Amino acid sequence: MADRDGKIWKDGALIDWRDATIHVLTHTLHYGMGVFEGVRAYQTPQGTAIFRLREHTQRLFNSAKIFQMEVPFDQDTLFEAQRQVVRENQLESCYLRPLIWIGSEKLGVSAKGNKIHVAIAAWPWGAYLGEDGINKGIRVKTSSFSRHHVNVSLVRAKACGYYINSILANQEALADGYDEALLLDTDGYVSEGSGENVFIVRNGKIYTPDLASCLDGITRDAVLTMARDMGIEVIEKRITRDEMYCSDEAFFTGTAAEITPIRELDHRIIGNGARGPITEKLQSLFFDVVSGKAPQYQHWLTLV
Ligand code: PMP
Repeated sequence: MADRDGKIWKDGALIDWRDATIHVLTHTLHYGMGVFEGVRAYQTPQGTAIFRLREHTQRLFNSAKIFQMEVPFDQDTLFEAQRQVVRENQLESCYLRPLIWIGSEKLGVSAKGNKIHVAIAAWPWGAYLGEDGINKGIRVKTSSFSRHHVNVSLVRAKACGYYINSILANQEALADGYDEALLLDTDGYVSEGSGENVFIVRNGKIYTPDLASCLDGITRDAVLTMARDMGIEVIEKRITRDEMYCSDEAFFTGTAAEITPIRELDHRIIGNGARGPITEKLQSLFFDVVSGKAPQYQHWLTLV
């Protein structure tokens, strides 16, 4: 991805894509303490708009706060920088990746005194788990790796190093011929996918794990809001893997994954083995919302 045309915002200025490099002794590269976001912009009738930019920017700053990383820019600056990156790269729809990392002044576990850097890149990115996945659902495997424990990793943060756990799980699932992994928490309850929150539908009600060990997903929040607005009861609680096997529908949510149905888990067909009706309704509303066709959710969109 390094060798392409375009502009990346780095430490306050737009620079050429190919020049957005770092030194090999960068602290974050060695120890993994960095924080980032995944954000999407969509084409709307009014022009390109970023979905829930304020919430993503707020989560980025919360992530930095958790690790006591002092961001050398305020929220409004990064808010504007994200809009600028989409505009300057003339992207109609895209994925945005803001990243905050620790510089190369010194190594050793303590990062005290090292400079904090910020970059924002954006590029076109289609359906993360495939168009077929969006329409027909994906096959998922429960991972042999547990999700983070609350006193090992502070999961309100979206942190670089946490994704080692995601990569292990995803690698294992793909090597075994599945599309994605489902991770359980350290007590054995359902937590989330390698980069997605998870939901099930049972008897017309929607269930999703509470936030103890999973990321406080912004798409998760959007789905909970949309479902409540549709009059569907939503319940956040501990979920077991056999509850998932016996659910009527299941789906993943995430900025990259959007709303992706799960049609099979550990060789158990979920519901009728296709995208379920409630999943489809939510998906259809979600795509209307992000593309500016649902006026009641217009406040979630920021034109670039
Ligand atoms: N869980 C994990 C581990 C993730 O990486 C993501 C993607 N950011 C999500 C859940 C979904 O979060 P969001 O809807 O905010 O993208």
